[in-house]
Amino acid sequence: MSKIPLVDLKAAYARQKDEIDAAMQAVIDNTRFIQGQEVKDFDAAYAEFCGTKHSIGVGSGTAALHLCLAALGIGPGDEVAVPVHTFIATAEPVSWLGAKPRFVDVDPETGNMDPAELKHVIEGVSAVLPVHIHGRPVDMESIAAIAADAGVPVIEDAAQAQGAEIVKTDGTVVRAGGYGIAGCFSFFPGKNLGAFGDAGGITTNDDEFAAKVRMLRDHGRTTKYEHVEIGYAHRLDTLQAAVLKVKLSILDAGNAARRALAAQYSEKLRGVGDLLLPPVTPNQVSVFHHYVVRTHSRDALLAHLAEQGVSAGIHYPIPLHLQPAYAFLGHKPGDFPIGEAYAKECLSLPIYPELTEEQLDRVVAAVRGFFG
Ligand SMILES: *Cc1c(COP(=O)(O)O)cnc(C)c1O
Repeated sequence: MSKIPLVDLKAAYARQKDEIDAAMQAVIDNTRFIQGQEVKDFDAAYAEFCGTKHSIGVGSGTAALHLCLAALGIGPGDEVAVPVHTFIATAEPVSWLGAKPRFVDVDPETGNMDPAELKHVIEGVSAVLPVHIHGRPVDMESIAAIAADAGVPVIEDAAQAQGAEIVKTDGTVVRAGGYGIAGCFSFFPGKNLGAFGDAGGITTNDDEFAAKVRMLRDHGRTTKYEHVEIGYAHRLDTLQAAVLKVKLSILDAGNAARRALAAQYSEKLRGVGDLLLPPVTPNQVSVFHHYVVRTHSRDALLAHLAEQGVSAGIHYPIPLHLQPAYAFLGHKPGDFPIGEAYAKECLSLPIYPELTEEQLDRVVAAVRGFFG
């Protein structure tokens, strides 16, 4: 029986092959590889998708975070609040700028930054960088209120949450990336909207902030030969923009498919073993970049699934404060107990829009088989 991968980029390409090939060929023919029209077209389309005034294509999700922090003027002496349960790219740009990540523990059910924990550190930080982890928005209303009280800006790490929705108490719906001063997106190939290499984007409703990151992403340029600041080479390639524009046209459909698959998983896995399933959070509408379950037998279940031809994954096995790269900050096990438990117990099951019901049933059977 064929293996079930964690993500299937070949199946995604097959759906739009002709359109993608034609879009790439058009760039190759016009040779506007840097800052071509396709970048402007994609930026306009992505801003519309997110419901924001601006979207600015950049070289990667990490570059997006770097540029936003730089645009805020984060530097030596500053601390930035970062959740412990995330990919290391959330924290790295903070360190590049000479600032310090101030780690924050997470909610045990969602894995997202816990607003109550943020409260304890808010007085000491210059910015808050929550992550919409696994595709589920954080409780932005609470986090934004805490940050606003302290006069601290919020940048969303929306790398995993293209199209995810935040339903405010007054009923208005804001898409991820449209709530804070800026949203940072990754279009890494395996993300819900994935390019054919590294790519990213920054969304914002603030004209001044947009102008600043546009300038910083392209060598601090204001005109071809005038550089007003020492900037970065963080542009989005035209070829990637062309691919992304095509793939964006089916992103909402793909996200809807992921939600339907997640609902099926949750229905079919309810009550199995000691599994904790992803919570239902009507005000934070996930796009299920990952479908994460928790179990005390995580490693054994992972091995069992591999034997059954199912590729599961772990996002992420080591919380940031215990990463060797951050050992210099002096944290120890027990400092952030909720994030540490999450890291030990989390397991991501295969999820992508092209996953068939038959494949999903095979994953479910393999999980049920493990618990007997
Ligand atoms: C993927 C990811 C990033 C980094 O994005 P790249 O495009 O790989 O640089 C940052 N934060 C989170 C939470 C991510 O998942």
